[in-house]
Parts: sequence; structure tokens; C-alpha cells
Amino acid sequence: MYSQASGPDHGSAHGVDALPAFTGLKEQAGAFAARHIGPTAQDQAAMLRVVGAASLDELTDQTLPASIRAQHPTDIGEGWSETEVLARLRDLAGQNTVLTSLIGQGYYGTILPAVIARNILENPAWYTAYTPYQPEISQGRLEALLNFQTMVTELTGLDIANASLLDEATAAAEGMALARRVATSRATAFFVDADCHPQTIAVLKTRAEPMGFTLVVGNPETDLKEDEVFGALFQYPGTSGRIADPKAAIAALHAAGAIAVMAADPLALTLLASPGELGADIAVGSTQRFGVPMGFGGPHAAYMAVRDAYKRSMPGRLVGVSVDSAGRPAYRLALQTREQHIRREKATSNICTAQVLLAVIAGMYAVYHGPDGLKAIARRVHGLGVTLAAGLRALGVAVVAQPFFDTLSIEAGAAAPDVLARARKAGLNLRDAGGGRIGISLDETSTAQTVQAVWSAFCTEPDRVAQMAAGLPAPACGLPAGLVRQSAFMRQAVFSSCRSETDMLRYLRRLSDQDLALDRTMIPLGSCTMKLNATVEMLPITWPGFCDLHPFAPADQTRGYQTLLADLERWLCAISGYDTVSFQPNSGAQGEYAGLLAIRAYHRARGQSGRTVCLIPASAHGTNPASAQMAGMKVVVVKCDTQGNIDLEDMRAKVAAHAADLAAVMITYPSTHGVFEENMRAICDLVHEAGGQVYVDGANLNAQVGLARPADYGGDVSHFNLHKTFCIPHGGGGPGMGPIGVRAHLAPYLPTNPADAAAGLAVSAAPFGSASILPISWAYIRLMGDAGLRRATQVAILNANYIVSRLAGDYPVLYRGAQGRVAHECILDLRPIKDSTGVSVDDMAKRLVDYGFHAPTVSFPVAGTFMIEPTESEGKAELDRFCDAMLAIREEVRAIERGEVTAEGSVLRHAPHTGAALGAAEWAHPYSRQQACFPPGVRPATKYWPPVGRIDNAHGDKNLVCSCPDIAEWME
Ligand SMILES: *Cc1c(COP(=O)(O)O)cnc(C)c1O
Repeated sequence: MYSQASGPDHGSAHGVDALPAFTGLKEQAGAFAARHIGPTAQDQAAMLRVVGAASLDELTDQTLPASIRAQHPTDIGEGWSETEVLARLRDLAGQNTVLTSLIGQGYYGTILPAVIARNILENPAWYTAYTPYQPEISQGRLEALLNFQTMVTELTGLDIANASLLDEATAAAEGMALARRVATSRATAFFVDADCHPQTIAVLKTRAEPMGFTLVVGNPETDLKEDEVFGALFQYPGTSGRIADPKAAIAALHAAGAIAVMAADPLALTLLASPGELGADIAVGSTQRFGVPMGFGGPHAAYMAVRDAYKRSMPGRLVGVSVDSAGRPAYRLALQTREQHIRREKATSNICTAQVLLAVIAGMYAVYHGPDGLKAIARRVHGLGVTLAAGLRALGVAVVAQPFFDTLSIEAGAAAPDVLARARKAGLNLRDAGGGRIGISLDETSTAQTVQAVWSAFCTEPDRVAQMAAGLPAPACGLPAGLVRQSAFMRQAVFSSCRSETDMLRYLRRLSDQDLALDRTMIPLGSCTMKLNATVEMLPITWPGFCDLHPFAPADQTRGYQTLLADLERWLCAISGYDTVSFQPNSGAQGEYAGLLAIRAYHRARGQSGRTVCLIPASAHGTNPASAQMAGMKVVVVKCDTQGNIDLEDMRAKVAAHAADLAAVMITYPSTHGVFEENMRAICDLVHEAGGQVYVDGANLNAQVGLARPADYGGDVSHFNLHKTFCIPHGGGGPGMGPIGVRAHLAPYLPTNPADAAAGLAVSAAPFGSASILPISWAYIRLMGDAGLRRATQVAILNANYIVSRLAGDYPVLYRGAQGRVAHECILDLRPIKDSTGVSVDDMAKRLVDYGFHAPTVSFPVAGTFMIEPTESEGKAELDRFCDAMLAIREEVRAIERGEVTAEGSVLRHAPHTGAALGAAEWAHPYSRQQACFPPGVRPATKYWPPVGRIDNAHGDKNLVCSCPDIAEWME
């Protein structure tokens, strides 16, 4: 472990400035805030002049309705320096005790190859990227995700895999929901093998109930009645370590029109017959042990693979291969991209932010090791397990006789507490499986010493242990003969092309060089808050004290985390006005789901189970209706008026019509239209008077922190997208965290410990979701302090209004607040351009690539528009560069309007332009190469070159290819 230096004395060091003349003695308060916030004080003054406001405070007053302004300061204190924050986090990490974890239960020690740690996990080119909706600037990460999908299909023996899901337990729940969608059986029950991980069973229970499914937990050999279920889930190997053969059960399920889902360990699959070979229709699991630290619960990528027939019903994001404008193969998201926005409450799931960065890491772990390397790791782990079991038996320990891969079950009886305690003393956490049962899971990090230490925990006579060890025969294979894998896997070139570190390093670099992330340009995505992810915030997440803890480690080993969680809860409450926070939801959409479940439980506890209607404005993010549907609610859409505001009359009418069955309203505030609606308080009052609860979608909190608090103006519950407002990087589409804040009356209905299936609700596998990325948000809040947070919000609003002021003359701004201001984002209406010239939003978005920009959000929440959110982190120079590009593009459109060129022949229609096009002998366009590739403001020396031209989405969806194609296929 690293140094345990204690932090500075924060009780007295802050707020006291006894010697103001000697500021050199102490780092300047607010110094970090000035680095986080892009525009300098001087720039802010200049920008305020452009927007026509006298001061930031005046602009704030013009933007936020007085009725919602916060009455309380956030009371977080002064911002700390980077040095102080690191010292305190070191101290907290030091208060966590890292033992060797042999707990298993879905979480294992693993070795993240240093070349991947440094060049992906710690590399902003990967972690600051956005979800690859703009495929031309995302080819690197899309290729990495295709590797992940290929790895999963190869290991599982199924046809198609997504990239990715949030954790194994939620993936299993998605598998259950998918089974219901595709099964021909009309049954409403789902069977779960009792040997599944307890957290998986807990999440399935939670998910099943509102969807009207009965969950039957039992032994597949004796309790499965295939005619009475639409599907069944088997764990492979089981949580007890047991490897059972599900073939017969699967055949029986199929005969009854039911679906078989297997939760399978990817490392075990290198040695065991694959789910596909056993007949399974769906496989799910966690890829955590492929190089991703346990992280006290996450983040890790879960996978889902399905038979070809079910690909169009699969949840999550799917990377596919298509072709670009020159016919070259090119990657892009296929089929389900943004499906919630299209299908809303009929969406297959509410998954939005997933675990992209972790999927990239797991996929690269497979590239690094290759199939033979993975098999060698698996064999070694299994061999150690066999030795461990033989030794324990020789010592007279009751090892349960069952085929296993890496996990032993021991009947220790009354001796269990002593054994567990002795193991802990020796630095090992074993699993207390209850009832005198102990679980021991070995992993990639296990050694002969680990095995020795376990023996010694069971036998206190060192001589006997030594004697026994000397007499052990060499380990034999303990896998069941009928289930040993015969099939080869991962024979695609990528899995054997990077055997040296040089090759690996250059492969990773080549991929990231193809992409645009925040380390190269602003990413002005509305609603996604692509702000700075400061390096200092990122440093702690790879410290062993934060990343090497098992989520179910004993509480006395996780004191540092407990303090960190308590701090973060207190601060999020201060910022939002809520009373309690649950950290279990591991994405914003999961937060929505957890919050709605709490509302549902609250109504039921008050004898009002008839309250099932959820009112959602038409402008809502697609995850809102999808989550409401999952929570068993009926979605009723409320209209928006021409100003983009919730239509108050329609809201009144719908509240009145549903006075008896109104459960909740879900409102994004400020709205997805980028304005603070004046009526927010009135709407919340209206809903409360009718007995409903108010869910405020907190994705747009970046426009409110320090200025307004959802609980003050009427919210009962909100999620906080920590990967938006609170600086967790997007990672190319995840990880994220979506903790929810609730008012006190909802606190009893928050999620409980998922390891305790009897306890209550569980929305994700780990008690605190993706805990290991929480230090990022902790650091951000602590660095900024009250003044910094408030200033960040004000500048976020300034930056958005500055863009409006610079662009409004050329692009109509669709919605504004009562005093003509936008909140932290704005919508530019490009439909008039389309109508007059035929130039589409896509043409505009792709042309921005030629100027070196990532496009804004396209066609959400209004089709044919750009939604732009600059965030406070972008400085004036970058905002000007963006505005200049937008204005230059407007001039290119004007040339079409004047009839000088056609839309078809224009530089817009053929964007983005590649280096290959520039260098080709032929140039068939009426515009010059110079105009295409080096428009105003783009310098040849620093130009970003997209690796492919515009990608044909329809072609890819018609010819769906979602794993690494053969070289031969590409040649055709
Ligand atoms: C991002 C977002 C969500 C969903 O959050 P995830 O973390 O992606 O699941 C919900 N609502 C709004 C308005 C958002 O912008």
C-alpha cells in the first residue's frame, strides 16, 4: 500500500486567513476552480458584454426564475487545493484495508496489464470520449468494442453480443425481460437456479415484481417445471462453485417454448463447453476478471450474447460493421442506437450509459493474452484450486464433493467463525456463505502462498500443513469430463497480433488517434455535460485502497469508503436539498428506475397501490418513459407548448383526469429544451395536491448547482448523473453513476444490500454501484467548494448564452426563457436550412468534423436541430473557434441558397473529407481540395483527419455484422 500520510488539519486551515499579506504560504483558495472554469475573469467580462448582461449575477437573475432560487447556501466550505485533496483521499484510501479477496461471488482478483492501465484507463484519449453516435470520429473505440463483442460471442458460442450492460445482475434481469419478449410460452413465471449469485437473485426479484412475473428460485434438477415458466436462468459455474450440466433442463425448456439464459464466467468458458454448445439462447455475465479491478463493486462491463434470431430484441448498444462513402469497411452503432428516444415506453430496456471503457479494457485484456494466454490463466487457477481442495481434504476438511473451476465450498460447521477470523488475520477474506459454509474462490492473482495460507487458516498445526503439502500429488483436472471445452475460440487475427508490448502499445495508440475526445476538442453535446475531467480527480481511482476492495468485504475493512460515501451524501444533499442519498444505481437511467420504485413502494405502503400513472412531458429523455414502464407504471404523455414549455393546461387536465391513479410526474429541469420553465413550482404543487410524487430528472443539474435545489422547489426524488455534472468521464459511453437523492418520506424505500436477497429492493449488483469512481466526484466537489461550484454553474450559463449571442443571427434559437435567456444549453433550429436547401442536420454535423469538432447532439429533443451545451470548462477561445466554424458553415449553406452550388454537389453533403480523398488522383467535386479539408481556422499541421468518410447506416443494418470480420470478407 501507499503512504498513509494524514491529510491537513481541515478543521482550522480553512476560512482562517490570519496573514493575508503572505498568501504565498498557502495555496490560493479557489485556485482549482479557476483551472476548471475555462473563461478567465477578463474573458467573462468580454462575454458578458456580448450577451448584454452587466454581471454574472445579473445574467443568473435573468435566467433562473426567482421562484426556484435556492434559499440556502450549499455549505460545503471553501475549495481545497489539489495537494490537500490528494492528501485527504490518500488518507481515506489508507482507511480501507486491502486483504487478498477469495470471496468470489462474481468478483475476483485480476491483473490489469500495465500497458492497458496506462494507455487506456489512465489515458484521457480513451476516458474522455463520448458515446460513439458520430461514428466517423469514433472508429478507434468502435473497433475496440467490436473486439469485445467478438470475444464474447467466441467465449459464449452464441451469435451476437452487445457492448455492454451495467453488471451481471442487471444483465440477468435484462435476459429475463428478453426471454419474455421472445419466448413462445405464455407462462408468466421465470425460474432461477438457487445456485445463482445472491445479488443476481435480489435484482431479479426486484425487476420481476413490477413486470408481473413470478420468480421461482430452486434447484433445476428437482424444482424446474418447464411448462410453467417462460424461461430459466442457470449460473455456470454456480455461486457455490459447482459446475452443473444444464443440457437436459435446456432441452426441456425448449420443448415447452421457453428460453434458457446462462450466467457464465468468461474465464471458466475458456475451459468449459460454451453456453451456445449447451443449447442456451442467451448468455450474460461479468467481464470484471478480464483485467478490471473489483473497485468495491464496479464499474465493470457485463455482457449479453444471444442467438441470431433474438438480435433485434436485444437491449443495450451493438457495434456493427458497415461501409463508408468510399465503400471502405467502417464501424458504427447498429439497430438499437438511441432506441429509447424512438420507442420510449416500448423500448426493450432503459439502458443508456453503459460500461464502454470497461468493455474496452476487457476486450484489450483478451487481445493482450490471446486465446492461449487466457486458457493458461484459467488452467493455472483451476490447478491451484485442485491442489487447494486436495490439501484441505488431506487435512480432514469437509470440501463439498462437486465438479468446480475455481471455487470451493466447505462445510466448516461450528468452526466457520474461527476459520474466517484466522484467514483474516493471515490477510485473506474467505466467503461466509452462511450456515457454517465457507466459499473460497481463487483467481489470476492467487499463488502457491495463497493456497498455503488457506490451509493454515483451516489447520493451526504448521508441521501438519507442511507435511501434507509435501505429500500432495500433482493436480489433476477437476472439470466434469462431459463439459470440457473442445471448441477453439478467438481465432480472429486481432487476438494474436499483439504478443509484444510494443505491438500492444502501438495498437492502442493507433486506435485512440482515430478518435476525437475532450483531449482534442470541445464536445458540445446537449444534455451530456462534457466538462473537464481533471487529472487530479482521476488519480485516486487506480490506488489499491480504492480499487482492490471486494464489494462484500467486511465493513471494518472499508472505513475509508464509508467516510467518502458519507461526505458525498452530505454534499449532494446540500446541493440538491434532499435528505438521503442511495449510491446503488450505476447509471442515470438506473437512478430513474430506483426512484420510481421508491415512489411505487411509498404509495403501496399508504394503501394506494392503484396509483400507477406516470405523467411525462413529450420533451423528456427517452429513458424516462422506459424506466417508468419497467417500474410497472403506465406512461401518460403531457404536451409541450410552442415555447417548449410543459403545456400547463394539458398538465392540469391530465392531473385532474388521473387524480385517483396518479403515481408521479417525471420532469427534467431545466427542461431538455434548455430553458428554466417559470411554472415549475406550480406544476410540482399541482401534482402534490393530487397525491402524486415529483421525480426531477437531475441530468441538467449543471445549470443549478449553487443556485437552485430540486427538493426546495418541489422534487421528491432526483438522480444525479455524476458522469455529467460531477466530472466522472464518459469513457466513450460509460461508466457512470446515477445515485438518487430523496426527501425523508421516501427514504425507507431506497435500495438495500443486494447480497441479502431477503432484505428489500436491489437495483444493481453492488451495494454502492460503481463505487470506485466516486472519488472523482468527491474530489471535484471538495476542490470547488461553495463558491467554485456556484461560479461553475454561472459560467456554464454564460457560455451557453454567449454561443446564442454569437450564432442567433444566423441560426434561429428554438427556445428561450421568459427573459430571452437559455439555461446551460441551447437548441439551434436547422429545419429552415433543410427546407430551403436540402442540407440536413447530418450534413452539418459531418461538416463540423472537417473543422475539427465533435458535433453537438443531433435531433434530440427536437428532430432537425442541434442541441449545444458548452459547459463551464470551455474557454472563450474554444467557444469562438466553434462559433466561427458554425458561421463559416452557414456561409457554405448560403452558397447553396444563392444557387451557386447544389446541395448534392456541396462540400456539406460529402463531409467529412478523408486524407485518402484528398490524396486521390481523382477529385470529382465542384469545390477545391483546400475548401474541403482546410476550411477557415483549420491548420494543416494540427488538422484532425477522420479515418473514414460518411458511413452508410442503412447498409450496415441490412447486412448486420457485429463481430470482427475475416480479412477475406473485407476484400470482397
Ligand atoms: C443522460 C440523461 C439521462 C440518462 O442517464 P444515463 O446515465 O445515460 O443512464 C436521463 N435523462 C436526461 C435528461 C439525460 O440527459
